Amino acid sequence: MKSHILGFPRIGSHRELKFAVEAYWRGESTETELLEKTAAIKQHNWQVQKQAGLDYVTVGDFSLYDHVLDLSRMAGAVPSRFNAGDPQSLDTYFQMARGDAAQGIAPMEMTKWFDTNYHYIVPEIEPGTRFSYSCRTLVEETRQALALGFKPKPVLLGPLTYLTLAKSERPADRWNRLDELILVYKEIISELAALTDCIQVDEPVFCTDLPPEIRSRAAAVFEQLHDSAGGSRLMLAAYFGALGDNLPLVASLAADILHIDLVRAPEQLEAVHQAWPRHKTLSLGLVDGRNIWKTDLEKAVQLVRGLRNAEQLWIGSSCSLIHCPVSLAAEKQLPADVANWMAFAAEKCTEVERIKQALLGRDITPALEENRAALRSRRESPLTYDPQVRQRCSGVTEAMRRRASPFSTRKPVQQRRLGLPPFPATTIGSFPQTRAIRKIRRAYKDGRCAEEEYRAAIQEAIREVVAEQEKLGLDVLVHGEPERNDMVEYFGQQLNGFCFSQNGWVQSYGSRCVKPPIICGDISRPKPMTLEWTRYARSLTRKPLKGMLTGPVTILCWSFVRDDLPRSTVCEQLALAVRDEVLDLENDGVEIIQIDEAALREGLPLRQRERAAYLEWAVNSFRLAAAGVRDETQIHTHMCYSEFNTIAGAIAAMDADVISIEASRSGMELLRAFKEFQYPNDIGPGVWDIHSPRVPSQQEIVRLIELAREVIPDEQLWINPDCGLKTRDWPETRAALANLVGAARALRNN
Ligand code: GLN
Ligand code: ZN
Repeated sequence: MKSHILGFPRIGSHRELKFAVEAYWRGESTETELLEKTAAIKQHNWQVQKQAGLDYVTVGDFSLYDHVLDLSRMAGAVPSRFNAGDPQSLDTYFQMARGDAAQGIAPMEMTKWFDTNYHYIVPEIEPGTRFSYSCRTLVEETRQALALGFKPKPVLLGPLTYLTLAKSERPADRWNRLDELILVYKEIISELAALTDCIQVDEPVFCTDLPPEIRSRAAAVFEQLHDSAGGSRLMLAAYFGALGDNLPLVASLAADILHIDLVRAPEQLEAVHQAWPRHKTLSLGLVDGRNIWKTDLEKAVQLVRGLRNAEQLWIGSSCSLIHCPVSLAAEKQLPADVANWMAFAAEKCTEVERIKQALLGRDITPALEENRAALRSRRESPLTYDPQVRQRCSGVTEAMRRRASPFSTRKPVQQRRLGLPPFPATTIGSFPQTRAIRKIRRAYKDGRCAEEEYRAAIQEAIREVVAEQEKLGLDVLVHGEPERNDMVEYFGQQLNGFCFSQNGWVQSYGSRCVKPPIICGDISRPKPMTLEWTRYARSLTRKPLKGMLTGPVTILCWSFVRDDLPRSTVCEQLALAVRDEVLDLENDGVEIIQIDEAALREGLPLRQRERAAYLEWAVNSFRLAAAGVRDETQIHTHMCYSEFNTIAGAIAAMDADVISIEASRSGMELLRAFKEFQYPNDIGPGVWDIHSPRVPSQQEIVRLIELAREVIPDEQLWINPDCGLKTRDWPETRAALANLVGAARALRNN
């Protein structure tokens, strides 16, 4: 029996990777210095795994930017716009990731890695792309690990997942290139096989609805990979869910070891065990790579005890640990009991090893006792069980999720109250977050600035934002969100049931890391969260001003969520807390309340047939948060994407009076969805791409609106940017909003 993990966080225990890479980008350090610093991170990671007692250290999980980009580099797939750049050159590599503003070269696209919050660089397969083995980093790293006395298990992203994630003009253009790509894999695998006795090939795509190209070709592909591995064992790792209907196919593949995810899909164990040949090895992912809670060691041991020969069993993490923070050792401020419920990546390595030890019959009684005590403390803590919250949840009725009247009745009532012109112009919420604002917020947080001074500064920022909007002539104003550095953290900090790590960073993309809030207990709202700032802002204007909240689904998706309750239940608790805030705002006279659900779509399960159930509880949560208001109160929501073709029904079911969405970048792509689906309520397709510093002209904005008018009736159309403006600066914001208001006025006068 062997123990291993599928990958370790690459950012370093204090985000060393971020600082090293960014210093290199700024020209403040040389390539040699960068590589020295990152070599230290790798060595440290290997050391952690070895010290935990794991039989292998994983190699190739490290990346200077992204592991999918690394594979493009290894296979020589540099898109032509990078001027035939040498894949080995670090500058070409970073250009591919980040583009080259000076030369006007766009970066490669980035998108979410399966259903995680990690973003990878999308491979581009052009007609002229030629795969060839072009970069030997993985072999060199494996050698380094050996030289340092570690036992390496190199990991490669598999060819089937790689091509599935790639983009090409037509899907066929990608799959036609499979044979050529396999030649590259054969070269690298045979080199690795000379150095190690096990090679991990990641194919998470097997936990998704498979493209037909994979069904027909997987067997031949694995046959070839297996041949090149020679005497070395090939591990096929399939994670992020159950193999499900792909199990018969996967079980027939020429791999020596199959790794499965038993955290996401514990129910598949029996079926996989039956299907996977007895003489082959099964690697069981028992320790959650995507969350921060301690594993129930006894339960894990029970699950697999006596399953098959110890020889044919390995114990591992469910997936790579890159989705977890590095180590609890850096946490000094978490409540001691709560910290004791957690395991970050380093601690998870130890958990994996302990499960193996127990299965081998070693006496690990003290470790098991400690684990049992931690789990008991969590179970019995008043934090994780608040009878009042539970009671409220069980009292939720269908009526609480339904507005008093249908939209057609609400709309005229709201119109009478608000008196808005046709094509009302508004923004999404945040305004430029200047250095001064960030500074004062940080000072306040660190206790370097008194309450009074802080409040005065925020009020001043609000005054400025309101005055600017009045001057610009926007119809529905916002307070600008100067008090928030993050749309989820701000609410988490004011809710019961959350806690915050000091150093719990997780890579989001490249050098960017996020520190997700942690939902550790039952959620409730002790007191109003946004009322005071909203009230202050409203006192400064006679125009309607929207109260601005983050929705329950988004708070859930961008947090580490407790794993002892279904996500749908946690989401319902969040919804009730947001509902309280909505009602407080309404009682205070706020006429319009926006509940952002930026993350609703990214919470979609990987498998088609699980989506309806998710959408049902997600939409129900939103409705629970929103529907308590009277007809005359207008509910807005906002979403940061336009592809809602597949979820249009669910979005309509949210029954917000007004929705704003991203649309300008794709040139009103939403038109397609609207051809098939008549969105019943009001809608503001974004007409200014706020992701770019470019200021759109009034004419450009008018053109986009004209496109929208082809499918959206004028009475339903709002005029707004794509998203919040917090990353923009004031001069461009003023200029673009002036054009936006100008466009709305021009339309009204026509
Ligand atoms: N109200 C938020 C803002 O304007 C919405 C941000 C988002 O959708 N990501 O910043
Ligand atoms: Zn947005």
